[in-house]
Amino acid sequence: MNLFEAAPAFSEIGAGIGCGPNAISVLKKLGILEHLMKLIDPSELRDRGFRFYDGFSESVEPILAYPTVPEEKDQGLALHSRLPRRIIGALDASSAHFNKRATAVTESPTNPKRLVIHFQDGTTHEADVVLGADGIKSTVRPYVLGHKDDRVKFANTKLKAAGFKYDISEYPASVSGNSKHFILFAIKNASIINVVAFDARYDIEIGDQSLPEGAPWVESVTKNEMKAAYKGMNSSIMALLECMPETPSKWSVHVLAPPLESYAKGRVALLGDAAHAMLPHWGAGAGQGLEDAYLLVRLLSDPETDVDNVEEVLQEYSRIRQPRAQMVWEGSRRSGRIYDLSHPDGNTYDDVRNNLKDMYAPVWYHNMDDDVDEVVNELRKKGVFKAMTS
Ligand SMILES: Cc1cc2nc3c(=O)[nH]c(=O)nc-3n(C[C@H](O)[C@H](O)[C@H](O)COP(=O)(O)OP(=O)(O)OC[C@H]3O[C@@H](n4cnc5c(N)ncnc54)[C@H](O)[C@@H]3O)c2cc1C
Repeated sequence: MNLFEAAPAFSEIGAGIGCGPNAISVLKKLGILEHLMKLIDPSELRDRGFRFYDGFSESVEPILAYPTVPEEKDQGLALHSRLPRRIIGALDASSAHFNKRATAVTESPTNPKRLVIHFQDGTTHEADVVLGADGIKSTVRPYVLGHKDDRVKFANTKLKAAGFKYDISEYPASVSGNSKHFILFAIKNASIINVVAFDARYDIEIGDQSLPEGAPWVESVTKNEMKAAYKGMNSSIMALLECMPETPSKWSVHVLAPPLESYAKGRVALLGDAAHAMLPHWGAGAGQGLEDAYLLVRLLSDPETDVDNVEEVLQEYSRIRQPRAQMVWEGSRRSGRIYDLSHPDGNTYDDVRNNLKDMYAPVWYHNMDDDVDEVVNELRKKGVFKAMTS
C-alpha cells in the first residue's frame, strides 16, 4: 500500500476537532486510540455532552444539557490539531510519499484491471485499487462521478475561528444567536479554548450562490467586523469577542451537494470529505471519514478479497456507507438551523429543546462491526465470497 500526500509533510490545519463516541470506537478498533492515550491526559476521554445556552439572555443556566445522564458509552475527545500529526508520527509512515499532488486517475492503457495515478510533478503510479481521501476538492472524485465535478457548493455559512483562554472546562457549549451560534470547547485540560463562531444565510439555498471565481475560502477579518456581526448577543459573547486576536480567520464553509449516488466506481473508491463533505454542526465529518476507513480496512484485508472481486467489494462498501454518511450530512445541516434559531419547525427555546432531544443518538451509537457483517453476508449471498460451511 502507498499513501500519496500533496503537502510536504503531515501538518496541522485549524484549531481543534471533536471526536464523538462513534469515532472513538473506530479509533479503538484500529488500535490508534492506544497511541493517542499515551499523548494526552486520560481524563480528557470523557462524555461528549453539550450544554446549550441562549445567546441573547444574560442567564448562565443552560437551556439544555445533552445527554441528560451521560454514560461511559457517550465518551469522546476534543483533539488539538497537533495531535493527529503526533499519532501519525507514532505509526509506520514508510509507505507515505509527500509532495505528491494527484491530478487525475485513469485506466492503465496496457492492463484494464490496473489504474494509473497522475501527479503534478509529471510522474505516475500504477495500482490495483485507488482510494481517494483527498478532501472536498478531490481529484479522484471525477473518476467516480464519470464526468467533470460540479458538486462543491458554498454553504452560505461564514465561520470565524480563534483559540484563546476561557473557562468552559466541564462541558463544550453551544450559544445560540439569530442565524448565528458559537461552539466553545476546551482542549488540553482547558489550557486552550477552541472558539468557532458561525454566521449563516438561510435566505439563500445551498448552491444558489458561489464565491467569486478564485476567491480564497479562508481570509482574515478584523475584530471590529466580528463584533459588528454578533452585535446584540449577550455580554459574555461580547467579552469573548473582545479577547479575540486582532485578525481572526474567516472560513467560507463548503459542502458536497447534491450527494454522490455512489462512493465507488470500478477499482476506485472515495472516503472522507472527498465522498461527503458536510456542514460541521454535528462535529461528525471526520468521524464519518474514520467509519469509511474502518469498513475499507476490514473489507480490503479480508482474506477473501482479491484483485478479481475487489470491484464488487467496493460497491458493497458504497452501498452501506452512502446512506449513513448522507444521514449525517442532512442531520448536520438540520442541527445548524436549530442552533441558529432558524429552523422551520419553530425557534422558541421549547422548540429548540424538542428539536435537539436525542439528536446525536443516530451518529454516536452505531456499530461498525454490524456493517462489516452485513457486507460480508451480502458478498456470500452473491457468491463473491465463499458461503459459510458449518
Ligand atoms: C470549522 C470546522 C469544524 C469541524 N469540526 C469537526 C469536528 O469537531 N469533528 C469532526 O469529526 N469533524 C469536524 N469537521 C469536519 C472535518 O474537518 C472533515 O470532515 C475532515 O477534516 C475531512 O478529512 P479528510 O481526510 O477526508 O479530508 P482533508 O482533511 O481535507 O484531508 C485531505 C488530505 O488530502 C490531501 N490532498 C488534497 N488533494 C490532494 C491531491 N490532489 N493529491 C494528493 N493529496 C491531496 C490534503 O493535503 C490533505 O492532507 C469540521 C470542519 C470544519 C470546517
